[in-house]
Amino acid sequence: MTVHFPFQNTYSALPASFFARVAPTPVASPRLIKLNRALAVHLGLDPDLLDSPEGAEILAGKRVPEGADPIAMAYAGHQFGQFVPQLGDGRAILLGEVIDRDGVRRDIQLKGSGPTPFSRRGDGRAALGPVLREYIVSEAMFALGIPTTRSLAAVTSGERVQRETMLPGAVLTRVAASHIRVGTFQFFAARGDTDGVRALADHVIARHYPDIANAERPYHALLERVVARQADLVARWLLVGFIHGVMNTDNTSISGETIDYGPCAFMDEYNPAQVFSSIDELGRYAYANQPRIALWNLTRLAECLLPLFSDEQEKAIEQAQFILGDFAEKFTAAYQAGLRKKIGLFTAGDGDEALVQDLLDAMAKNAADFTLTFRRLSDAAADADDDSVRAQFEDPAAFDEWAVRWRQRLADEPQSASERQAAMRAVNPAFIPRNHRVEAVIAAAVNNDYAPFEELLTVLSKPYEDQPEFAAYADPPLPDQRVLRTFC
Ligand code: AMP
Ligand code: MG
Ligand code: MG
Repeated sequence: MTVHFPFQNTYSALPASFFARVAPTPVASPRLIKLNRALAVHLGLDPDLLDSPEGAEILAGKRVPEGADPIAMAYAGHQFGQFVPQLGDGRAILLGEVIDRDGVRRDIQLKGSGPTPFSRRGDGRAALGPVLREYIVSEAMFALGIPTTRSLAAVTSGERVQRETMLPGAVLTRVAASHIRVGTFQFFAARGDTDGVRALADHVIARHYPDIANAERPYHALLERVVARQADLVARWLLVGFIHGVMNTDNTSISGETIDYGPCAFMDEYNPAQVFSSIDELGRYAYANQPRIALWNLTRLAECLLPLFSDEQEKAIEQAQFILGDFAEKFTAAYQAGLRKKIGLFTAGDGDEALVQDLLDAMAKNAADFTLTFRRLSDAAADADDDSVRAQFEDPAAFDEWAVRWRQRLADEPQSASERQAAMRAVNPAFIPRNHRVEAVIAAAVNNDYAPFEELLTVLSKPYEDQPEFAAYADPPLPDQRVLRTFC
C-alpha cells in the first residue's frame, strides 16, 4: 500500500506570479521522530501508512506524493517595521491542500525541505530544535483552544545544518487553514499589481470567508473579518501569557491562525514589557505591545486593499480607517471578557475592568507567575483557602487586599462556588509550554532522547486538567533554569 494524499490544489491554480514551482530537495536519511496520528486521521490520511519508511521520505521531502503540486509561495513583508518587497517561502514548500473531516481546506507544507527561489542567502533548512519548539508550542496552542497552524510530523534529515554551531537538521510538516499572510497582499500591492491583489482577495474570500462573497462590498467585508479575527487572536494570546516574538506582517495570517513559531515564548512571571526574542532588541514585539502591532499590521493590509475599495483614494482611505477603527473595540471586548472569566465573573459590572487591572498590577509588582496565579485563584474561588495563590506574590498582603474586593464582587453573582471554580479552571490552564521545559526537551532530543519530548506533549495535550502525576510541569523555572532569551 502506498500513502495517499487526497490533494485538491487551488493555490497553485492561481496566476504564475503567486508562487514558484519547486520540488523539495531530497535529504540523506529521513527518520520519522513524531507523527500526529489524530491530526492525520482528521486530514483523511492513514497514520499507519504515514508511519513507514515511505511516509518518512514524503514527510522529509525526499519523495513527492502523488497529486502534490509543490510550490513556494511569494510574499513580501514588514520585518520589524522595515518593508522588504520580496520574502516568500525560503525554506518551506507547499505540497498541496486537503479537505479535513470538518470540510475545511488545509495546506500541507514542509518546512525545512530545501532551498527555493525565495531563499536569498538562507540554506532552506531547519534545525531540530526549532522544529521541536514549533511542534510543541503549536500543538499546545491548539489544546488551549487558540487558533493556530498545526504540526503533522517532525522528521530528522540525517544531515547537519550550519547555524552558530552544526546542528541536526529536521523537517516539520505544518498544516494551516492557509499560508496567506498580510505580506502576501503586500507582495502584489508593492508592485502596483491591483489585479493580483484582487485575485488574492477573491481567493481568500472563497476560502476563508465564503459568506461575504455576495456582500454588497466584499473587499470591505474582508478587511472587517480579518480585523475581527486578529483582534480575537491577540486577545487570546494575552490571556494565556503568549508572546509571539516576530509579529512581522509576513507572519500575520489572513485566516486568523497563529503562525510562525520562532522565538515565541510563554511568560512565567507577569510582566507587560516582557520580551524573550534575541532579535527583538527594541521590544517592538513585547507582550503588551501585541495589540498595537496587530493593528499596525492590519493597517498595512488595509493599504493594499485601497484600490479595491474605491477609485477615489480619499474615499478609500476614509473607509479603511473606519473599519480599522473597530479593532480597538473588538480587542478590548474580547480581552476584558476573557479577563472577567479568568477571575470567575459570569457577568460584566462597572468596576470589573479596574478590579482585574489591580490584580494584574499587583502581579507585576510582586513577580507573580501569570499561569499559576490564575490557576490557583480558580481553587481559591471554591475553598476560600488562599495559601497557594498568595504564595505567588512576593508580598502576599498585596493579594489579600485585592481578594477582599474580589470576594465582594463574586458575592453579587448567583453561581455556586463549585460552578465558579469549574468555569475558571476551564479558562485558566495548569500547563503551558514553559521555556525551560521546551529547552530541556530540545537538549535531550539533540542527544537522541525523545522521551522528554513525548512526555511534554502528553502533558500539554490536556492543559486544563490537573494531571497530578505531572504536577511538576506546572512549576515555574528555578532560578538556574530560567530562560532569558529565545532564538529562532
Ligand atoms: P521568519 O523570520 O521565520 O518569518 O522568516 C523570514 C523570511 O526568511 C521568510 O521569507 C523565510 O522563508 C526566510 N528564511 C528563514 N530561514 C531561512 C532559511 N534557513 N533558509 C531560507 N530562507 C529562510
Ligand atoms: Mg515567517
Ligand atoms: Mg520563522
